[in-house]
Amino acid sequence: MEEACGVFGIYVRDKDIRAAEAAYYGLFALQHRGQESAGIAVADGKGIRQYRNLGLVPEVFDEEILANLNGFAAIGHVRYSTFGGKDVINAQPVVARCKIGMLALAHNGTLVNADQLRSDMEDNGAIFQTTVDSEVILNLIARESSKGLLEAIQSMMKTVRGAYALALLSKDQLIGIRDPHGIRPLCLGRVGDSFCLASESCALDAIGAEFVRDVQPGEIVVIDDTGIHSYRTPTPLSSRLCLFEFVYFARPDSVIDGINVYQSRKEAGRRLAMNDDVKADMVCGVPDSALAAAMGYAEVSGIPYGDGLAKNRYVGRTFIQPEQGMRELGVRTKLNALPRNVRGKRVVLVDDSIVRGTTSRRIVEMLRTAGAKEVHMRISSPAVMHPCYFGIDIATNEELIGHGHSVDEICRFIGADSLKYLSLPDLLKTVEGSGCQFCTGCFDAHYPIDPVTGENQD
Ligand code: 5GP
Ligand code: MG
Repeated sequence: MEEACGVFGIYVRDKDIRAAEAAYYGLFALQHRGQESAGIAVADGKGIRQYRNLGLVPEVFDEEILANLNGFAAIGHVRYSTFGGKDVINAQPVVARCKIGMLALAHNGTLVNADQLRSDMEDNGAIFQTTVDSEVILNLIARESSKGLLEAIQSMMKTVRGAYALALLSKDQLIGIRDPHGIRPLCLGRVGDSFCLASESCALDAIGAEFVRDVQPGEIVVIDDTGIHSYRTPTPLSSRLCLFEFVYFARPDSVIDGINVYQSRKEAGRRLAMNDDVKADMVCGVPDSALAAAMGYAEVSGIPYGDGLAKNRYVGRTFIQPEQGMRELGVRTKLNALPRNVRGKRVVLVDDSIVRGTTSRRIVEMLRTAGAKEVHMRISSPAVMHPCYFGIDIATNEELIGHGHSVDEICRFIGADSLKYLSLPDLLKTVEGSGCQFCTGCFDAHYPIDPVTGENQD
C-alpha cells in the first residue's frame, strides 16, 4: 500500500480559537496532499473524540460535525490514494485506548517494516482494526505507554523503519514527530499563544499562524499547557528530504526546510532552458504544478509564455472518472486545450514529471488536435525510474514508463516531436543552499533506507 498524506495539529491556549475549526482550515489548505479521506480528532483533557470519512475536507465536515468536536487540541489528516485500502476504516486519525488514556495519530509517510512488525505483534495477540501502517506505530506507542509517552515514542522510533511525519494527540498533549531522515516534511507554527504543526507552511498561512521553524529530522516536539519542549533522537542521521515534494507534491506557496517551493520550480524551468536550443513560438506549462517551471523556461529561452491548456480545478479524487465509452466521445474532464492560442504554433510544453506517460500522451494529442504544429515536451525533473517506498504514490517498476524505456522510446509513446528531461544534478541545484540533503530514490534508486532490509544506507 502506498500513500502520501497531509497532517495538521493545533494546541490552543487562546480563548478565541476553536481547535477543530482551525484543524478544518488547516486541512483544507493541505487538500492537495490527499483527496480520498479526511478526519479530525480533538482532546479536551479527559478524552479524545474524532470524526473521519471518505471524501474531500468540505464534503466530510459540516458545521454541526465541527461543533460536536469540542476540545482545546486537535489533529487532522487528509489521505491520498491507496491500492486496495479505499475504505473508511483506513481513514485517519487512528485512535487507540491504552494505559494512559486515549491516543490519536495522523501519519504522513510509509514504513518499510510495517508488515513484519504487524505480523510479529499479531503473533503476540495484538488485534488490528485497519490495514494502514500508521496503526502499527500507534500500537507500538500504546504498548509502551505506561513508561511515559516520551519514552514510548523513543522506543517506537527505534523499532520502525521508514518515513513518518506524525501528529500525535493524547488527552492533554499534542506531539509532532519526524523520522530520523526527515523524509516527509513537518513544520511548527504559532498563532497568538497557540502552537500548531503542519505538513506544509501553506496550512499555517491559512489559519493566520506564523511559521516558527521546521521540525528537525528525528525530533519530537511536545506541546502542552506548560509550553513547548523538544527532544532529539540520540543518533541523528543525515537529512534526506523527499525531492519529489519540490517537483510535484507540495503547494507552490509553501517553504519546506528553508526552500521556497515556487522558486525551486521556476529555477528548474530556467535550467531546462539553459541546456536547450529548440526553435519554438510559445512556451506553455501543464497546470498547475508546471506553471512556475514554464515561466522560468520562457524567461531564459526568450520564447514567449502563453496558455495552451485550461484546467478544471474541481476534479478531486472522489470524482467519477468517465468510462471507456464516454472517453471515446472525447470527454475532457480535467484539462482542455485553448485552440486559438496554439493553432499553427511550435509549442514547448513544460510539465513537472512523467510517471506512467498516459496523461502526457493525452495532452500532446490534445494540443495537436487544437492545431499545434509541433509539440516539444520538456520535463522539469529527471525520468522517474524507480518506485517510492516512503510515501509518494509512485507505482511499481512495470507501471513506470521511465523504467526500461529510453528517452526516445518515451518520446514516441507520448507522441511528441522531441522530449528532454532536467538532469538530477541540475534539479539538485534548484534546492541547494538550505544545508538539507535529499532522497532521490525515484530518480536514481539511491534510497536512505534499504526498502527490503530496513537498514540505513548512510
Ligand atoms: P503521466 O503522463 O505520467 O500519466 O502523468 C504526468 C502528470 O502526472 C504530470 O502532469 C504530473 O504533474 C502528474 N503527477 C506526478 N505525480 C503525480 C502523483 O503522484 N499523483 C497525480 N495525480 N499526478 C501526478
Ligand atoms: Mg501535472
